[in-house]
Amino acid sequence: MVFQPCGCPTAAAIGNGRFAPYTSASNLMSKRLTMKRRHFVGGLAAAASLSACAKPGADCAAGADSQQSFEWTAVTSWPPRYPGLGIAVDNLAECIAAASNGRLQIKVYAAGELVPAFEVFDSVSRGTVECGHGASYYHKGKVDAAQFFTAVPFGLNYLELNGWLYYGGGLELWRELYAPFNLVPFPCGNTGVQMGGWFNREINSVADLKGLKMRIPGMGGEVLRRAGGTPVTLPGSEIFTSLKTGAIDATEWVGPYNDLAFGLHKAAKYYYYPGWQEPGPTLEFIVNKSAWDSLPPDLQAIVDISCQAINMDMNAEYMHGNTDALEQLMNDPNVEIRKFPDDVMDYLQEISTEVVEELAERDPAAAKIYASFAAFRKKSIPAMRISEQAFLETRK
Ligand code: CA
Repeated sequence: MVFQPCGCPTAAAIGNGRFAPYTSASNLMSKRLTMKRRHFVGGLAAAASLSACAKPGADCAAGADSQQSFEWTAVTSWPPRYPGLGIAVDNLAECIAAASNGRLQIKVYAAGELVPAFEVFDSVSRGTVECGHGASYYHKGKVDAAQFFTAVPFGLNYLELNGWLYYGGGLELWRELYAPFNLVPFPCGNTGVQMGGWFNREINSVADLKGLKMRIPGMGGEVLRRAGGTPVTLPGSEIFTSLKTGAIDATEWVGPYNDLAFGLHKAAKYYYYPGWQEPGPTLEFIVNKSAWDSLPPDLQAIVDISCQAINMDMNAEYMHGNTDALEQLMNDPNVEIRKFPDDVMDYLQEISTEVVEELAERDPAAAKIYASFAAFRKKSIPAMRISEQAFLETRK
């Protein structure tokens, strides 16, 4: 397959029929999209349709579909061109523009350029902009149940999360959860399993978690709090200074590729694994429902398939970037890479189960999603044990 820098097939490749998954993916998309499509009900598309129909005998639908162009604005939760997280949405915009022959152009604004990092959800929901890119666990406190779609401590990894979202009913539940907010979500990027984080204190037992002041957001932060630590939430840009000055004892961020870019190895000595708190977080591309409805079906298909492409492409970028960055960190005499002790992982996993189950108990939407999530996880653990896990453990 011929790829452009964005990782998407070129228009030529699509024209030659080399983008074979297109047809099957379209069929899958039809199956997955449980929402009823209402073509030509949006403002612009409706106007185009009426215009095309003005001429007697005109082929309204075909004419409107192939001619209508759209210019959208995307806001994001990431610094501009930030490796992995931020580049993904730029790649998505390029991908959609190329595949649509320029009929859907998306201008991307980084965090703070139009709206702050954590206001992406509200801006797209209100229709201030058509779309945005971020992470569903940032909506904690507003839509608590959304956290299941990014990452759950000791939850699902990249492969499993995709299995649940695309084929196990997860994406339908996600769309149902976001419908009252006038939003259509798409999985769009995954970092893979993260690292446990950078520590200026050794973690040899559960007692070492007591009093630990750590930057760790979401449910992972609540788990640390119950273990006796003090979780704090900081935007990425403030992590290095806080760790370097001792304002915090530890931080999790993403993994070697992004952590090295922030210079976290110059602010802490111990680099612990695995990233129990985020075993394979999925990022989201959200589209305002009215904007989505205004697109003709071919552009809707292009958006859907491009999000799937970026979901894979970003993970590939992390796989490649992490291996290079980790090699550098392993050769750094000032860095000590350590595995969390088993009893610490067991302890944190017990607390994580409590935290997730309590969320499900107090929120009916979370209960419904958790039931589906937990059922998949229960079946996936033995399946992974004799497949991916068994293979990786035998490899030398
Ligand atoms: Ca993280």
